[in-house]
Amino acid sequence: MIDCLFCKIIKKELKVNIHFENSDILAFDDINPQAPLHILVIPKIHLATLNDLKEKHSPLIGNLIFTASMLAKKFKVSNDGYRTVFNCNNFGGQTIYHIHLHLLANRQLSWPPG
Ligand code: AMP
Ligand code: ZN
Repeated sequence: MIDCLFCKIIKKELKVNIHFENSDILAFDDINPQAPLHILVIPKIHLATLNDLKEKHSPLIGNLIFTASMLAKKFKVSNDGYRTVFNCNNFGGQTIYHIHLHLLANRQLSWPPG
């Protein structure tokens, strides 16, 4: 977790545009948005990938998803629809090794992904 970019964001050492924060979770704008609305929802504890999850983390992961759904309502994209994505490791397209849930909305997203 030394030099983890998202841990630095949690410690407020790097500035981001925050949309939600509580004792467990932070949600902020992605710096390189892939859709008009692109928010990252992250846990405040450092977990590098989904492979590091233990059963005890289940409520936390549920809260990440709940936070994304709450933000989708706040930004009024829930009716049109949106996508939530966790990327894992190289083939999954993960580049930051602190787990994060992408919330993407406000454009038609293709499926299957490339
Ligand atoms: P992933 O490829 O799933 O690991 O996603 C990492 C995401 O973090 C990418 O969408 C990046 O654009 C985003 N990102 C990287 N650096 C920052 C930063 N300083 N602030 C906000 N988002 C960032
Ligand atoms: Zn971290």
